[in-house]
Amino acid sequence: MLTKTVKKEYNVYMTWMQAVRRAVRAAYAEPCQECILQRPTCDPTKLLPSQVCAIHAYRDPRTELTREEWQSVIPYFPKTD
Ligand SMILES: [Zn+2]
Repeated sequence: MLTKTVKKEYNVYMTWMQAVRRAVRAAYAEPCQECILQRPTCDPTKLLPSQVCAIHAYRDPRTELTREEWQSVIPYFPKTD
């Protein structure tokens, strides 16, 4: 059973993850090209490099983000594996 402290820490962690996700997507996300072609009136799915669109199985052609690119967005991203 989770204690109150653990729950609080988990909430802090989830808020941090949300901020990370938001920052990375703001910096690197690009719209799915298939979404733009096939459903022009809808909002296209925003894809990070090498991410696959859940609707069209379209893979973003860019190579995956490196650790340095993650660190450029989130300075406090862990430095070692
Ligand atoms: Zn798509």
